[in-house]
Amino acid sequence: MQGTTHVVGAGLAGLSAGLALADAGRRVVLHEAGPAAGGRCRSYHDRALGLTIDNGNHLLLSGNAAAFAYLNRIGAAGTMAGPDVPLFPFVEVPNPQTPGGARWTVRPSAGRVPWWIFQPGRRVPGTRMADYLGLLALRFVRDDRSVAAALKPGPLARRLVEPLAIAALNTPTGTGLARLLGAVVRETLMQGGAACLPRFPRESLAASLIDPAIAALRAAGAEIGFSRRIAALDIVGNEVRALRGPDGAIPIGRGDAVVLAVPPWVAADLLPGLRAPDEFEAILNVHFRADADPAGTDWAEAGFVGVVGGTAEWVFVKPGHVSVTISAANRMVDDAADDIAAAVWPDVCAAVGFDGPMPAFRVVKEKRATFAATAEQDRKRPGARTGLANLALAGDWTATGLPATIEGAIRSGSAAARIILAR
Ligand SMILES: Cc1cc2nc3c(=O)[nH]c(=O)nc-3n(C[C@H](O)[C@H](O)[C@H](O)COP(=O)(O)OP(=O)(O)OC[C@H]3O[C@@H](n4cnc5c(N)ncnc54)[C@H](O)[C@@H]3O)c2cc1C
Repeated sequence: MQGTTHVVGAGLAGLSAGLALADAGRRVVLHEAGPAAGGRCRSYHDRALGLTIDNGNHLLLSGNAAAFAYLNRIGAAGTMAGPDVPLFPFVEVPNPQTPGGARWTVRPSAGRVPWWIFQPGRRVPGTRMADYLGLLALRFVRDDRSVAAALKPGPLARRLVEPLAIAALNTPTGTGLARLLGAVVRETLMQGGAACLPRFPRESLAASLIDPAIAALRAAGAEIGFSRRIAALDIVGNEVRALRGPDGAIPIGRGDAVVLAVPPWVAADLLPGLRAPDEFEAILNVHFRADADPAGTDWAEAGFVGVVGGTAEWVFVKPGHVSVTISAANRMVDDAADDIAAAVWPDVCAAVGFDGPMPAFRVVKEKRATFAATAEQDRKRPGARTGLANLALAGDWTATGLPATIEGAIRSGSAAARIILAR
């Protein structure tokens, strides 16, 4: 009889590993330290706002193949929202270069041939067709160049590529690795507009990506334990022999296996000698309790607006609230919540047309949202296979070839499951 696989961590990587293993007929036991699943992709009820909010806006693109396979597997693909055609509305807040501000919508064409770059109305204002060839060249970057070093400065960089790079890498463009961005470009933009449909949960991260996965795991016979922090691994020779949980030792028998799907700082604690990323970037989200009126706006179809030249970077319009993301936010993560909200509110007004006083808000600070996507940190990412015969690693920080994203986390879980299944 096949053994049990213990999955430690119920973030997206652990959920994805658990599903792949359960679907292959393995008995799965999931141990999650927190009171609920989701990790860095979670939702909760905020009593002060009277709303369910996400820890932060999460955007997928339709080219994120593993993420959509996962959504299909858990029966939640229909819970995602987004426009029927690829489009990315932007607002540039007034600054010395554009004193009056500007608005535009980038509209990639659906097919693989990028006809849209020949059509000024679909491009970033102030750019020429030739500028986009530089963008396409990003996909060939294989060395340690930063995004800033790989891009020609100009309106295309400032008004499109840098905002997308900061969102995808969660790292300033001066140090963010161009080749990780190139991997995203290869799997989305280079596949044509049909792979660039923006998608986000209609209701909440939990409702789309987490709760249905827990239900699917339970239906497949998995046992799921919350508030079950694994504090240590007992390692004998080249095998894990027990997990130390809150109720004592959980034996790992012959034929059993472990997937460690925890953040890198926890993995490094549990596995002495593990080389793993150890520098991180924050993401801030500010949730304002306000209803934006989409009538006649340029963002109604998309449901979000990119902000250039402000403090806010992406503004998502949600039921009962408007949610703002600031990535690569180490520079302001220790600022007072009131100051952060006050800095962001004028950008929100410019983006979605509010003009009143600032409403009630909640600032969510994710201090270690992702590893810093620099060359030095990327070299520290381990593969899923470890020196221990019955242990595999999963997590967005393992060597997926992608930045720390939902797509990377889900793929890492499948990779860890494949290793366990091949034993
Ligand atoms: C604010 C924010 C915005 C983001 N936006 C996007 C986006 O737009 N698009 C995108 O693709 N990605 C985005 N991401 C990244 C995405 O959320 C992550 O890549 C993904 O959630 C990581 O999943 P994971 O399973 O690798 O790690 P985690 O989510 O960190 O999961 C690890 C789990 O392990 C548990 N754990 C820790 N220690 C123990 C222990 N000792 N015992 C048992 N369990 C333990 C944790 O509680 C957690 O549940 C964003 C992240 C943040 C924070």
